[in-house]
Amino acid sequence: MKLTLNTPLSLLPRIGEKYFKKFHKLGLNTIQDLIYHFPHRYDDFSKIITINQLKTGQTATVQGKIIDINQSHTFRRRILLTEALIQDKTGSIKVIWFNQPFISRTLKLNTMISLSGKLKIGSQGHYISNPSYEIIKFNKDFTHTAGLVPVYPETAGITSRVIRYAIKLSFPVIKEIKDFLLLEIRKRQNLLFLPKALKEIHFPKNKNLAEKARKRLAFDELFLIQLSAIKQKRTLEQQNAYSIKFNKKLVQNFVNQLPFELTNGQKIASWEILKDLSRQIPMNRLLNGDVGSGKTIIAAIAALETAKAGYQVAIMAPTEILAQQHFREIGKLLKKYKLNIGLLTRSENNTQNKKLNKKELLNKISNGNIDILIGTHALIQKTVKFKNLALAIIDEQHRFGVKQRAFLQKNLKNKAQPSHFLTLTATPIPRTLCLTIYGDLDISLLKEMPKNRQKIITKIVPPTKRRQAYEFIRKEVKKGHQVFVICPRIEFKKDEESDLKQTQISAAKLLWSEVKAVKQEYEKLNKEIFPDLKIAMLHGKLKSKEKQQVMQNFKNKKTDVLVSTSVVEVGIDIPNATIMMIEGADRFGLAQLYQFRGRVGRSKYQSYCFLFSVSGDSNSRLLALEKCKNGFELAEKDLQIRGPGELYGVRQSGLPDLAMANLGNIKLVEQTRKEANDLLDQDPELKNNPLLQQKLAQFQSTIHFE
Ligand code: ADP
Ligand code: MG
Repeated sequence: MKLTLNTPLSLLPRIGEKYFKKFHKLGLNTIQDLIYHFPHRYDDFSKIITINQLKTGQTATVQGKIIDINQSHTFRRRILLTEALIQDKTGSIKVIWFNQPFISRTLKLNTMISLSGKLKIGSQGHYISNPSYEIIKFNKDFTHTAGLVPVYPETAGITSRVIRYAIKLSFPVIKEIKDFLLLEIRKRQNLLFLPKALKEIHFPKNKNLAEKARKRLAFDELFLIQLSAIKQKRTLEQQNAYSIKFNKKLVQNFVNQLPFELTNGQKIASWEILKDLSRQIPMNRLLNGDVGSGKTIIAAIAALETAKAGYQVAIMAPTEILAQQHFREIGKLLKKYKLNIGLLTRSENNTQNKKLNKKELLNKISNGNIDILIGTHALIQKTVKFKNLALAIIDEQHRFGVKQRAFLQKNLKNKAQPSHFLTLTATPIPRTLCLTIYGDLDISLLKEMPKNRQKIITKIVPPTKRRQAYEFIRKEVKKGHQVFVICPRIEFKKDEESDLKQTQISAAKLLWSEVKAVKQEYEKLNKEIFPDLKIAMLHGKLKSKEKQQVMQNFKNKKTDVLVSTSVVEVGIDIPNATIMMIEGADRFGLAQLYQFRGRVGRSKYQSYCFLFSVSGDSNSRLLALEKCKNGFELAEKDLQIRGPGELYGVRQSGLPDLAMANLGNIKLVEQTRKEANDLLDQDPELKNNPLLQQKLAQFQSTIHFE
């Protein structure tokens, strides 16, 4: 049978259904998939030596004849041992494999084999432990034991050995792969020919070639990302959006009546956005500013300008209480401009002065009666139809998954008349990501915080100082400030609770009792700790009306302490709150903790963040939070702890591994960007590069960015 790139792996000799299922789990279905499944490292077995040259502790390859082989179990631990004696012309050496029952079936007496592994010394002398092995064939072609041997990320019960075997079988197909990259680009960037790179990445002749292969293939992936981002941007630039003429008087009037002066950063960002809105090209901009830097006001300016020009605006937030807050606060900010503002969530259909039923609100939206529609995911239901949506704003965009964001953008965009698109985030994005996966976005950066903000004092509090912390809280409240208490969960289940109450304190239960739940904590604070203060609780299971009420009371200072789950993580703005107390802080991620802390320090008052951990001690995340001053510093830390994949949701975007690994490689990122730009200048539709066009289409179908 002649293999091609599209041959299913199940048709490879000896692979069959059993392995095919496992390959499928890894996302590998065809020969092509397999060829593009790259090793993450190599074992260096390039030194073949004789048995008398073996040294204890060193890894090496020897070749010889099996002169004895047998299987046994260890006396006590029932481990299966396969022991063999291998001989070459200089001597013999013992070899031991552990728990590999099939070995005695494949390796027979008197076979010539090649072995790679480490020489160890045990109670009965020297032996090679668990080596890679293969039978020496006539053509002396080695797959597992000579040269640089590829090691693949192992999952789903597929060993590197099986993958190596299957890739070797697929090798003839590689020759037939055509290189989609122009010769001149390859020359300019000093890149290997594609088939050569594909061979060398699996079975490199030497380390240098392995490196070159990796560079070529990483270049390809980044280059394809660049092409799609730049093409997307250029396509957008050919579309027509509503052009919203800059209304200087309106904007000045609005800014002048604010109780504060805009920061320079806010002025510049607003200006960039207003300029974008005035053009016919749809805006696609990301507003990036630290927690508390004042992004809402900028969104409000853009919304005001658009609505006053007679068009509709949609503002979407990731949580119901944030949508409610925007509805309330933006409503207040724009009150005197007589705009119709609507709120749409799963259970709410309101305008500023009236509660409607869903149908009534949908009607108002479609006939243009609503100027600004604020809401949650509910905004992108099919039933929501705008009359003339000109601007869509997404707050806390990092909270929407990559796929969801793409869906959003598509759905909020009216096909005939695409809207301007503004996303807000507090997550700082490293430059390389701005140039790659965010490459089609324009970015406004808010570098400074409003005046008179103080650094939040962050403390990891040991259990012994809990009382003291409570006393401190009481003092702050007496001064007129407010407090958040965050717990990792809503409540304990019944059996956990009775468990907790059965007194006998074991170490495990002591630990468990530090795990906090909102309902229990609310009870405790209300009755035992702060009977003199006003306490409220908030969590996702409350009805939306109740949530609204709780937040409004907190905002209006009717409550002193709000015990809440993570529902207040993003966006919530209570400037009078000065203490953020986080229970079970080690249960939260660094970015989450940072967002929680950002709920305080939003005024001129000194604010505090107290971290309590379940285990009573501090892990690296808590220490990082205690030390770090701003989001940019934090992003660096998070990048070290989690890598770009987890941090920016890149992992979910289906980006291939090499690209992931090279997202931080600024030089390669810039080179690929330049080549992609130049190429699209000459050949915008890639008509002269059909192979590349095809490859790009294929690539785009497997990834999904914004
Ligand atoms: P974020 O960027 O986290 O969304 P917000 O827009 O919620 O921040 O603003 C945080 C707080 O700072 C709000 O109470 C807001 O009224 C206030 N604020 C915004 N801009 C300024 C400014 N230039 N000077 C003083 N306070 C400001
Ligand atoms: Mg915000």
